[in-house]
Amino acid sequence: MTALPGHGGSGYGRTVPAVPVPAVPAVPVPAVPVPAVPVPASPVPASPVPVVAALDLPLARARHDRAAERRDRAGLLPSLYADAATRVLLVHGDRLSVADAGGRARLAWRGPAGLPAPADPAPTPPPRPDAADDPADVARDTPREQEPPLWLYLGEHDGVAYVALALPQTDAALATLDVVPGWATLRDLDHLDDLEQGLATEAVALANWHAVHAFCPRCGAPAQVRAAGWVRWCPVEDRELYPRTDPAVIMAVVDDDERLLLGHAAHWPAHRFSTLAGFVEPGESLEQAVRREVAEEVGLSVCDGRDDVVYRGSQAWPFPASLMLGFRARVAGTAADPAPDGVELTQARWFTRAELSERVRTGEVVLPTRLSIARALIEEWFGASLPGA
Ligand SMILES: [Zn+2]
Repeated sequence: MTALPGHGGSGYGRTVPAVPVPAVPAVPVPAVPVPAVPVPASPVPASPVPVVAALDLPLARARHDRAAERRDRAGLLPSLYADAATRVLLVHGDRLSVADAGGRARLAWRGPAGLPAPADPAPTPPPRPDAADDPADVARDTPREQEPPLWLYLGEHDGVAYVALALPQTDAALATLDVVPGWATLRDLDHLDDLEQGLATEAVALANWHAVHAFCPRCGAPAQVRAAGWVRWCPVEDRELYPRTDPAVIMAVVDDDERLLLGHAAHWPAHRFSTLAGFVEPGESLEQAVRREVAEEVGLSVCDGRDDVVYRGSQAWPFPASLMLGFRARVAGTAADPAPDGVELTQARWFTRAELSERVRTGEVVLPTRLSIARALIEEWFGASLPGA
């Protein structure tokens, strides 16, 4: 018999007699006086910047409970499918099902009856491949059928469950419906109430993620949908994949004369001017992204004081997967001329409030839509609502 050293009294078959350990008297430890740390009068130093309420943004007004704790509940989707009270919103590509309500499109919620049933979530994982197998080989041999319609659990409000049904992006998928609704994109629906706006934004954002994550990004295997639409799972690597959101900064850049910098992007319609914006890069803070984007797009340096890049609010922008983080950023002085990079931006200029108001009135400047955080940043700087859709 072999015992591991240190586990029991016999090491390598020999009996080792216990050695008596003499008792060690406790040594008294003298108390070391620790000086008291002076407590400042106020834990938060007075800020020279007034505390301003965050922007009230149209795509950040959800009223429902996402009820994330229910997503993993066994049988959630089949039970919601069997309940005529469940409200279902159809999603097809970037479009939502709508119905006409007094000349304005409203979301066309319906019951589950007549819709395809939720697919089985494959409760038993298939055996993992032999360690010697290349996951890419296994993935290549796995059949890739057209994805079925996906049931996506959105949450609850006032005791009602809301789900989205993301249809395959084919005309054939529409032909299976008992009633073919009208369709509209989220961009067309800037007049929804807060509950519907929140549900629609969540539905589009989650459906967009599924549309481009049908396969594991590492090994290429078809990734199965789990957790009522909130997880995909790679059966080859036993790995869970979660919905992604791409952070982007968007900034109202002002100078010491309180002029606002707006630019015109190469791919925009004529006369459209808006705030600068760009994606946050890996390993970068939001403030660094603000400074880098302003330097890249117009060649100006944002001041690097503590209060020169100020967060103003955020909203999802699921076209297809952005989270827009809004800032006010200051460029020192009043003489700096923007130099558009000629690639992303073809024009950039400073506006006083009077200039912007006049040019919007004459149509020389067309502002971004009211659904956008850019519009909110511009109107916050202006101090009032500006005309135009
Ligand atoms: Zn994989």
